[in-house]
Amino acid sequence: MRPRHTHDMQALLIWYDAHQRRLPWRVSLDAYRVWLSEVMLQQTTVPTVLGYYPRFLERWPNVEALARASQDEVLAQWAGLGYYSRARKLHACAKLVAFERQGRFPETVEALQKLPGIGPYTAKAVAAIAFKVNTVPMDGNIERVTARLFAITTPLPAAKPMLQELAQRLAVPKRPGDLAQALMDLGSGICTPTKPACPACPLKKDCQAFKKGIAENLPARVKRAAKPVRHGVAFIAERKKDGAVLLRKRPEAGLLGGMLELPGTPWQSEPWTDEAALAFAPSGTGWRQAGLLRHVFTHFTLMLEVRTGSATRTSQGAFWAKPENLSQLALPTLFKKALKFMALDV
Ligand code: SF4
Repeated sequence: MRPRHTHDMQALLIWYDAHQRRLPWRVSLDAYRVWLSEVMLQQTTVPTVLGYYPRFLERWPNVEALARASQDEVLAQWAGLGYYSRARKLHACAKLVAFERQGRFPETVEALQKLPGIGPYTAKAVAAIAFKVNTVPMDGNIERVTARLFAITTPLPAAKPMLQELAQRLAVPKRPGDLAQALMDLGSGICTPTKPACPACPLKKDCQAFKKGIAENLPARVKRAAKPVRHGVAFIAERKKDGAVLLRKRPEAGLLGGMLELPGTPWQSEPWTDEAALAFAPSGTGWRQAGLLRHVFTHFTLMLEVRTGSATRTSQGAFWAKPENLSQLALPTLFKKALKFMALDV
């Protein structure tokens, strides 16, 4: 049975008008800017995106400009934001909108969702914020706030469809974009995962979890199994005369697809023996350990041993990158961290 409580969203909007976070993507409701910020914010935090969004906009101020960029340029600007398939889809979406839709984004949730890289959340967020469609997008913040407002104790992920339906009941037809952003701000600043600041919350009057004293326990979750660990070895092959290092491009499909990487072993469930790892080393000498990195991906944790040595020639598919050019290249965070062992400025 669905809960019947109602909530005074006007109180939330009044709070939002006074306390909203000043974010660069809130300056204009242009669909391109809203879409760009929403794609960047998927699986990434606001502080991280703040380091990327203005740079992107400055370089590509509209969808046509982004569509004309090369994929490598887009990936290089995206490096560090993670989930690189998003960058490729972002570019594909820009090309489609620019070249096949005369630069205009569609205005309905259904049509937006047909574009590359736009899932149900992004479609609703763009529709609500840029086109004032009366819909409530569901991100982690809104999911948590909704679960608490209605005191839903069914664990996630089973509770998702119900929470989506309940969130839609919170809609305010006149200000759908503001409502979505107000809920996000409330979730990130007040209705936080641990220790929510209920006494300061504009919705406390009608909040069922607050009344029952169970806010901090919600949303309930089914316990996840620990992430598996994988092991790899990466080689920093340095050219003596100018300090250039060997890089190569990863295959287009799969994890970190199309990005650059240090040459190295595949990633496997067992640690590598010396002999097995060195079979993947570029032609070079003096391989010694520089450090061990731990990097968490969505589905596994990688333990990457980094070795350095010197090399004089490239191996197949690899190229030399000079230290001064490293920061311009599409290098994922993992390999930037690895290069820091060599005190290289990436
Ligand atoms: Fe969240 Fe507490 Fe506000 Fe309820 S009263 S919405 S639990 S901060």
